[in-house]
Amino acid sequence: MIIDVHAHADFLSEEKLVEIQKNKKIRLVISNSVNLNSCKKNLEFSRKYSKIRLAAGLYPEEDLTLAEYSKFEKFVRKNKKEIIAIGEIGIDKIEKLNFELQKEIFINQLNLAKELDLPVIVHSRKAEKEALDILEDYKDNLKIILHCFSGNFNLIKRAVELGFSFSIPANIMRSEHFQKMAGEIPHERILTETDSPLLSPYKEMKNEPSFIKESIKKFSEIWSISEDKVEKIIEENFNKIFSV
Ligand SMILES: [Zn+2]
Repeated sequence: MIIDVHAHADFLSEEKLVEIQKNKKIRLVISNSVNLNSCKKNLEFSRKYSKIRLAAGLYPEEDLTLAEYSKFEKFVRKNKKEIIAIGEIGIDKIEKLNFELQKEIFINQLNLAKELDLPVIVHSRKAEKEALDILEDYKDNLKIILHCFSGNFNLIKRAVELGFSFSIPANIMRSEHFQKMAGEIPHERILTETDSPLLSPYKEMKNEPSFIKESIKKFSEIWSISEDKVEKIIEENFNKIFSV
């Protein structure tokens, strides 16, 4: 079965969501949110399509404020029964938002996840070390998934030692970095994702959760085990983090 822990249903067409719902190979897709509007849209989709589940989060976009965070916190408390993770959250040196404010809002969201006992899905761009420095304080109290981690292998080793998991995107078929990660990270720490509709493994097509079949194929090659076994490992890893 296919499990996509990181996609964006609110960026996909409604037609695609119907296809996902009908696809018997897909167990579920976690739709990650980047701002309050995105949280609301993904909540709607998760109500309409049972395979789409909601991760609520604020990504450090340029116009993010503490006032917006307060509204987000209210949204999460109100809808907490329908939220299966806090994501995608993080710190990002490519985004223009003040870095200190980014850290403050990131930490607020980590504390909220801890209080509500929800896993977190973290993206950090050009700030991987700073993200790990913050996340280290939560290693005993939070289930942490690093999405699309692009830090170097010393940082990857540190994250493994801290007990974090990694979701590796379907564009692994074109990325040496992700192939190397798949070879070095313990199998029990690996999850599958697409970041749909972004990061497509096929240059000419928009990404979608069914393309995880490409990751399964790649893991099977790298780990020298059957594709069925890979799927089983990924499902077990998912079940250890999520109670759905
Ligand atoms: Zn994303």
